Amino acid sequence: MAVHETTGTVQEQSRGTRVNPFDMMQRQLDLAREHTDIPDGIWEILRRPERSLEVSIPITRDDGEIEVFTGYRVQYSSARGPCKGGIRYHPGVTLDEVKALAGWMAWKCAVVNIPYGGGKGGIVCDPTRLSERELERLTRCYTARILPLIGPKQDIPAPDVNTNASIMNWIVDTASLLKGEAVPGTVTGKSIELGGALGRREATGRGVMFTTIGVLQRLGIDVTQARVAVQGFGNVGSVAAQLLAAQGAKIVGVSDVSGGYHCPTGFDVDDLLRYVETSPGHLLAGYSATGMEEITNDELLALDVDVLIPAALEAQITSRNAANVQARVIVEGANGPTTPEADLILGEKGTLVVPDILANAGGVVCSYFEWVQNIQCFAWEEKETNQRLGRIMQRALTEVWDLSHERQISLRLAAFVLGVERVAQAIKLRGIFL
Ligand code: NAD
Repeated sequence: MAVHETTGTVQEQSRGTRVNPFDMMQRQLDLAREHTDIPDGIWEILRRPERSLEVSIPITRDDGEIEVFTGYRVQYSSARGPCKGGIRYHPGVTLDEVKALAGWMAWKCAVVNIPYGGGKGGIVCDPTRLSERELERLTRCYTARILPLIGPKQDIPAPDVNTNASIMNWIVDTASLLKGEAVPGTVTGKSIELGGALGRREATGRGVMFTTIGVLQRLGIDVTQARVAVQGFGNVGSVAAQLLAAQGAKIVGVSDVSGGYHCPTGFDVDDLLRYVETSPGHLLAGYSATGMEEITNDELLALDVDVLIPAALEAQITSRNAANVQARVIVEGANGPTTPEADLILGEKGTLVVPDILANAGGVVCSYFEWVQNIQCFAWEEKETNQRLGRIMQRALTEVWDLSHERQISLRLAAFVLGVERVAQAIKLRGIFL
């Protein structure tokens, strides 16, 4: 996959066409339109973000040189509540990618029916080239630059690709110092000691696990008979693999940016996790176990499995490789891993795609719990968090599944219709300002 920084596009290699994540999100939205009766004016509001901020972030590198980075924060919709969405550190970040991710957050929060709008942020950087101290300076300066937009009642960031609890801790510290008051509810995904929620780190993967099991049950597939492949072995992918393995599923394929592995008899996921804890860059490269072979990321997506979980980046399953997918079910751990063209090919093949805005909503649901606890200055036990998460994910899956069967539309269209109609209803109820 080639990422073009200036245009915000991802190359679909075989056809020479490029996927712009924002165009992709808007196309998904437009496909949902014919299944709703949302008026034209409201539709125009839904097709674009409320606010996009671009910031320049100068930092002093450890060698004394100044380097200037670019960052973004996009608030897609605040109709249903404060904006909510993660922050991504990646060389391929573009404004259009952040706008797409912010839009998906708005529909996702509405699908699981939590009182948030959608937002997202990102910095164009390669965090593997930055020292810990440089990463801290970058994070603090970015926070200062987006501070007018963020806060517990305005817009609440969280972790995304290449960001974690340490980065959230620096954000909350910078925001609290600059505002002159404790504002733990400014970000979620913090360390527990700073007001983080027990279970938040695992919540997205746990939600993927709940959704996968719910779908397998509906298809009459016993989870202990299910063979699963996971693309991306970071926060979402590794936890989803671990929790599904604990339910008896066989994890037969894993990959990350360094490459992939196939083990027909099933990996020992705890062993994989121990390996990446200390491996260079926390990557799978160099892992070995009996009965496994090295494969490419493309081969991983084409493995003969029951469930494929893309949990890396956007536009991984495209018109180029969708026909090769053998999985019966795709559960989208990542945001936007399947292009609309690939969706068509998969639909014709009968592959069931469980869309991102449902499948990976566990993270934002648990972020909501963290924010509620911060506002109440009260901490829940992890068991309570996980039980509540399970209830919300199961309710959302039932609503999307039933709508899909009622209207004879795909799960993605059903999730979009449900989410977008809820946001449209909030806009109508609030009315148009002036
Ligand atoms: P992460 O940085 O922890 O992990 C990303 C993983 O993807 C890494 O293992 C990386 O090596 C791998 N990867 C990157 N490029 C790849 C490629 N081209 N091929 C194969 N693997 C590749 O990030 P994460 O937090 O796990 O996020 C993964 C996806 O899930 C993203 O799309 C993110 O937006 C989405 N998501 C994350 C959360 C969350 O709570 N972290 C919530 C909802 C959705």
